[in-house]
Amino acid sequence: MRTILLWMARNPWLRARIPRLAFARRAVRRFMPGEDVADALRAADGLIAAGQGILFTRLGENLTAIAEADAVAAHYHEVLEASRSRSRPIEISVKPTQLGLDIDPEAAFAHCDALATHAAEVGSSFWVDMEGSPYVEPTIALFERLAVAHDNVGICLQAYLKRTPVDLRRILPLRPAIRLVKGAYDEPAAIAYRRKADVDAAYQTLAVAMAEAARDGDARCALGTHDADLVRRIATFAQAAGVPREKLEVHMLYGIRAAELRRLRKEGFPAFTLVAYGDFWYPWYMRRLAERPANVLFALRQLLP
Ligand SMILES: Cc1cc2nc3c(=O)[nH]c(=O)nc-3n(C[C@H](O)[C@H](O)[C@H](O)COP(=O)(O)OP(=O)(O)OC[C@H]3O[C@@H](n4cnc5c(N)ncnc54)[C@H](O)[C@@H]3O)c2cc1C
Repeated sequence: MRTILLWMARNPWLRARIPRLAFARRAVRRFMPGEDVADALRAADGLIAAGQGILFTRLGENLTAIAEADAVAAHYHEVLEASRSRSRPIEISVKPTQLGLDIDPEAAFAHCDALATHAAEVGSSFWVDMEGSPYVEPTIALFERLAVAHDNVGICLQAYLKRTPVDLRRILPLRPAIRLVKGAYDEPAAIAYRRKADVDAAYQTLAVAMAEAARDGDARCALGTHDADLVRRIATFAQAAGVPREKLEVHMLYGIRAAELRRLRKEGFPAFTLVAYGDFWYPWYMRRLAERPANVLFALRQLLP
């Protein structure tokens, strides 16, 4: 089921048609407050009032022309301006291909550089998302350049990739912010763990190493997962290594296990919700279905009147 859903996420024919279906548009609302940034800002205000940190991502992936990247960057600059009037800054989390990484890497770097500078001015952070495996090396190289010039940039690392322990060692000297996720793409067994138990074990080992770096002030450690049991297991190991919970941020996606995130916040973990919005939601939504095929039933129920 996971493989079929991830194939559907990549299929251009379905990508052009499914978003037009009313039931699909109703179903995606479970994971997005709306398509407009105004919807996302309204949701963010409620979450900030409840003591949470916020990350914004406008959905979109590979571009066809570099001019589109200018529009994406302009949008995120507007978000950072909107952040000024809030009691807590909105952090932004961006796919590098949305800023043109696979068309013009220098232009993508210039956009990231300008966004990181603007984010620093408003007390915010700029996060680089991680896409499918062909993008890992260029994304890490992009992050390395950014991290030399800015101390408010973060990167997402994927625990399912067998290369990630080496990548973590490579970037830790940069005193990075890292969001560790399990990984959302369909990667081959040659380069990625495919069994949940293996991914969870890899995640735990990486997270404890990140936590130790956070304890020493050498990293910002964010656990990007809805797996609250795993977070608590990591916290137990981290505590034994002298890492307090305040150093272990938990980042979850809007609409998924929100009650669990509130519980973790009460237990002392800094809690963040990543709010996604925008009209290009299809591949992103299909990856959310692939993570939990029971969500397909929820989507199909939207076919009923
Ligand atoms: C803040 C954040 C940022 C992310 N950024 C990236 C990125 O840049 N690159 C990338 O490859 N991946 C990214 N991901 C996705 C990530 O890789 C996983 O695919 C996703 O988080 C599901 O794995 P899990 O850690 O929640 O654990 P799982 O073991 O999949 O799930 C743990 C529990 O959470 C619940 N759950 C998980 N997913 C869902 C869902 N979709 N709907 C309902 N319940 C669910 C289930 O009840 C499950 O029992 C991000 C995830 C988060 C939370």
